[in-house]
Amino acid sequence: MELDEYRASLDDWLERNTHVLTPDHDGIGTLDDQMAQLSKVKRLAFEAGWMRWGWPERVGGLGGSILLRAYLGEALTSRDLVEPGIYSMTEVLAPTMIDYAPLDLAASMVPKLLSGEETWCQGFSEPATGSNLAALSCRATRDGDVWRISGQKVWTSLAQYADRCVLLTRTGSSESAHTGITALFVDMGSPGITVRPIETMHGVPEFSEVFFDDVAVPLDRTLGEEGQGWSVAMDLLPFERSTALWHRVAYLHRRLQSLLDVAPAHLLDSVALGEVTQLLYALRARSRATQYRVAAGEKLGPETSIDKVLVASAEQAVFDLVGAGLGEEVIMGDDPSSDRWRREYLYSRAATIYGGTAEIQRNIIARRLLDLGSDR
Ligand SMILES: Cc1cc2nc3c(=O)[nH]c(=O)nc-3n(C[C@H](O)[C@H](O)[C@H](O)COP(=O)(O)OP(=O)(O)OC[C@H]3O[C@@H](n4cnc5c(N)ncnc54)[C@H](O)[C@@H]3O)c2cc1C
Repeated sequence: MELDEYRASLDDWLERNTHVLTPDHDGIGTLDDQMAQLSKVKRLAFEAGWMRWGWPERVGGLGGSILLRAYLGEALTSRDLVEPGIYSMTEVLAPTMIDYAPLDLAASMVPKLLSGEETWCQGFSEPATGSNLAALSCRATRDGDVWRISGQKVWTSLAQYADRCVLLTRTGSSESAHTGITALFVDMGSPGITVRPIETMHGVPEFSEVFFDDVAVPLDRTLGEEGQGWSVAMDLLPFERSTALWHRVAYLHRRLQSLLDVAPAHLLDSVALGEVTQLLYALRARSRATQYRVAAGEKLGPETSIDKVLVASAEQAVFDLVGAGLGEEVIMGDDPSSDRWRREYLYSRAATIYGGTAEIQRNIIARRLLDLGSDR
């Protein structure tokens, strides 16, 4: 299907199904509410075919350009039908799963993620290992036909809901930083896994500590080859830093419009509003170009750090404008009617941390794109 046809037919379907797609909860809802809403929307969109376009047929998709699924994310987010952060996990994890999982594993698992039947999480960060990911120490040791995993992950988004985890483990010596890492696809219900949710400063238990105590994982759950985990991570992170955030741009446009609907006159002719608008359009132009590059078959790489810097800067600028326009008490006070603005403002601070911090993105841009010195 072509993009124009998809767009028109999807818009029509969304219009006709508003009554079933609209969230059951009031306002922004709890994380439980948002997760239930996400599963419902994914299920309905999968059953109607929309969620399958843009994904390869070998994993249950209907084929077609990645631009189709990008439009789906945009259409759902701009109508406030899904929370954009949790929606992005599919776009973060599925592409790499498709590239690296054994064919039958990808074919049986990816449809579960697309249809909302399952939630997956990403186990990369550890207590002593965030930016310096290659130093990770959660260990997997071969034992017959299984890996045995012991160690800890942290900041694992949605781990308490997750059925599976794309997990980076150390299988070689710690000196062999990049070559000693192996990626595994782990069932979160396996004996020996303990998940402890952590509340963020915006009051939502979005991520968790995850403990692995001698957890057995079959060898055929290895993503790529043993020792190829660094490539898996380097394949996944560019999606997390760019295409997975495309629908976030639509969300930011929508929230800026919501602000302007209630903003005082002084905000409407302020330089600040001009600057935020410029940032948002620069982000959209860049993200659109990235989507078209992937659609044309290009492989994503370090240049996606530019997309990540732009999205984080634009998001923080939009919600800074809320304080400037509606008053600081809206984002720092405790009036329940301002809950959504406050939560969004606080969560926007995380944009320069998740998916790799702003400093790390700027290091990548300086060193790998502008050739301003080596990584060491
Ligand atoms: C909302 C949210 C969701 C997340 N979800 C997940 C998830 O699902 N899965 C997962 O694995 N992780 C997740 N993370 C973790 C995230 O990837 C890490 O927080 C991030 O990579 C930074 O690592 P760190 O927290 O260990 O900070 P550190 O690496 O300890 O960094 C601390 C500070 O030092 C700076 N710094 C570090 N090294 C350098 C350097 N070389 N040059 C310049 N400055 C440097 C950093 O920029 C930062 O300001 C999430 C984080 C957040 C906030």
